[in-house]
Amino acid sequence: MTAELTFTATRSDAPLPDADREAVLADPGFGSTFTDHMALATWTKGEGWHDGQVRAFGPLQLSPAAAVLHYAQEVFEGMKAYRHEDGSVWTFRPDRNAARMARSCERLALPVLPEEDFVGAIRALVQADEPWVPAYGTGETSLYLRPFMFASEAFLGVRPANEVTFSVIASPAGAYFSGGLKPVNLWVSQDYARAGEGGTGAAKCGGNYASSLAGQLEGQAQGCDQAVFLDSSTHTYIEELGGMNLFFVTKDGRLRTPALTGSILEGVTRDSILELAPDLGLTPEESRIEIDWWKEGVASGEITEVFACGTAAVVTPVGELRWAGGSAPSTGGEGGGEMTRTIRQSLLDIQYGVAEDTRGWMT
Ligand code: PMP
Repeated sequence: MTAELTFTATRSDAPLPDADREAVLADPGFGSTFTDHMALATWTKGEGWHDGQVRAFGPLQLSPAAAVLHYAQEVFEGMKAYRHEDGSVWTFRPDRNAARMARSCERLALPVLPEEDFVGAIRALVQADEPWVPAYGTGETSLYLRPFMFASEAFLGVRPANEVTFSVIASPAGAYFSGGLKPVNLWVSQDYARAGEGGTGAAKCGGNYASSLAGQLEGQAQGCDQAVFLDSSTHTYIEELGGMNLFFVTKDGRLRTPALTGSILEGVTRDSILELAPDLGLTPEESRIEIDWWKEGVASGEITEVFACGTAAVVTPVGELRWAGGSAPSTGGEGGGEMTRTIRQSLLDIQYGVAEDTRGWMT
């Protein structure tokens, strides 16, 4: 598909003063402060994509009858812009996010935005809000980018919307682990699934996250940080966390991750780690993995490290696994296992331009 849009920029007439922006960037946290601008475009049935623009960040006008508010016809993406030592700003594999959003759109019966327009919107927004990209050397800070698309047509009939809005907003992000790597303890969600066979698990749509919250709350009530979801039909196989994929390092040098069965999100970080694995002396393996293998493998010593991965935290060591009636201890110690830390650093070095980008992942 070729580009359909030009993102014309209108500068915000009230950007945050420099001193206030610097104060936000000194301690950005995650997801609660936003930059001065946003990208927007509209799709209308019969017309296609039009009105690409970058304008001041602010509320959207939406009819209470907008289809997204009723039927959740919506998809989104998550990615980051990183500042390198020479001051330049880079994104990591945006083509993968564009392709995943296109697959999500097809599943949610939304119009596909050409990759060139997806990347064009991000480029235009990052250019407008360049001062919001945290400085190099301020820890693992970045500008988090949130592209999203939703049914904005005011219509209560159940059918794909004839008017759709695409937008990108940006939010400065601080280091996920400011006090050093800390393992997350996980709860096995035995009763709640986040996605089912034939459902929308492989799409990045809001409904999947809404459906993960009950399992998440149950885990928190059990003193865990996050929940592990299993396949919905047999409750036997490991799928993923509410917002991260899972990996296991084995004693015999394998790097195992659950295969993409249609109900797991294909993480860009997951894919990148699978590609890096051979360089680190690991044999990558995508397969169905039973939760019992995890429960027993830690005790037997077959599993040496467990970690989760995703754009937000890059790689997070997994600590204890708990379930109704039992638990398996942490594998890697306080700061995560050695391989977990090596994989994490390999990715960070590419993202922040410390290591040579031999695969052409940075844009
Ligand atoms: N699984 C789910 C359910 C997610 O929301 C995410 C975050 N996008 C991931 C996995 C990790 O994907 P990525 O590496 O592309 O951030």
